[in-house]
Amino acid sequence: MVVHFSRSLKFFIPMLLLFASGALGELDKTTAYLIDEEITRHIQEIIKLRRFLHMNPELSQREFETSKLVASQLLSMGLEVKTGIAKTGVIGLLRGDQPGMTIALRADMDALPIQEDTDVPFQSLNPGVMHACGHDIHTAVALGTALVLSRLRDRIKGNIKFIFQPAEEGPPPGEEGGASLMIQEGALDDPPVRAIIALHVWPDIPVGQALFTVGFALAAADGFEITVKGRGAHGARPYEGIDAIVLASQLVLAIHTTLSRTNHPEDPAVVSIGRIQGGVRSNIIADEVRLSGTVRTLSEANRTRIERLLRDIARGVTQPQGADFVLRYTRGTPSVYNHPDLADILFPSLQAALGKNNVSPHPPQMVAEDFSEFSQRIPGFYFLLGVRPPGARTMPPLHNSRFLPDEKSIAVGIKAAAHLLLDGLAYQHRIEN
Ligand SMILES: [Zn+2]
Ligand SMILES: [Zn+2]
Repeated sequence: MVVHFSRSLKFFIPMLLLFASGALGELDKTTAYLIDEEITRHIQEIIKLRRFLHMNPELSQREFETSKLVASQLLSMGLEVKTGIAKTGVIGLLRGDQPGMTIALRADMDALPIQEDTDVPFQSLNPGVMHACGHDIHTAVALGTALVLSRLRDRIKGNIKFIFQPAEEGPPPGEEGGASLMIQEGALDDPPVRAIIALHVWPDIPVGQALFTVGFALAAADGFEITVKGRGAHGARPYEGIDAIVLASQLVLAIHTTLSRTNHPEDPAVVSIGRIQGGVRSNIIADEVRLSGTVRTLSEANRTRIERLLRDIARGVTQPQGADFVLRYTRGTPSVYNHPDLADILFPSLQAALGKNNVSPHPPQMVAEDFSEFSQRIPGFYFLLGVRPPGARTMPPLHNSRFLPDEKSIAVGIKAAAHLLLDGLAYQHRIEN
């Protein structure tokens, strides 16, 4: 039999692949092919958008122009758009042609108060403000994913919500903001979101690779301040006072010793005391010393344990010497948790998108991220996207004035996100149960 390949190969390949369906968490090959094709078609305009964002960074809760740009882009793709959520947040809803649940992709949009020190032609135009945490890449990846998937509506079984979040780095003092405010203002409702995905650029691994961990992935970040209250006296007559500096010194050592001896190594915790203030002059016994620090934990149980431990240690150090103390413990963002059931579906999906050898597990990182607010409420999937230029052994870290992620990571991020979102919807019966 003679077969005439009269159609163009471009048209024919999807037809051939149509019946080759993948394993669990693996997109059918035609859809995967179409995603690649759409990425190739649009990547240059997405890179242009990213450069524009990089040149025009805006601080947390002040992402006014970024927000306008995001909203107009989403509208031009035909998405349903809501603006002004948690001040400058934007939500785009892409309804698929087939019915189903709603899955979300979240991107943060804010920059940092850092003076950029790179030599790229698209350097920040805002003095003292820089996208040094890569949120310009996150925003570009989410816009790119929305663009690609908006052209594949006929393959979407449900809805995809694109959540563009302000103030991930924390709102200005005295203001509310970020992920928790977005949730309060309905980001996960109407239609209700069943699962959520996010990524963060990661300078430790080369572009093309990703890291993912099941369970706790990033830490909870809390703050504390302990005020040691002693009694002032002449420096030559310490027995007439209660030396708050000596007590504070004991307290620092007691905290670190006790923590290292009581914390289970499989549930890591970090306590760092970053500031000590107290005393007036060299010949006066200080009556008051203030210590402040940060606590990073993974499990909620350990978080509660360490708060109690700090109180017990402060009491144990101060009381025998007749001093007093005040502990102020402030709970910050909880830990980012990657839900095992969602990971069962999406880890193979990430591997299928990027190549099996390009996705590895990572130990939990003690940095924090307010994506945790989402992943506490619904199953979340948070992964780290390599941005180190190929061949480079190191690169400047996040929050550094020379941080410069490789732009090739944008296409990789879009591909990964598109696969994860569509696979999440393809296997929604496993998420909903
Ligand atoms: Zn950051
Ligand atoms: Zn960040």
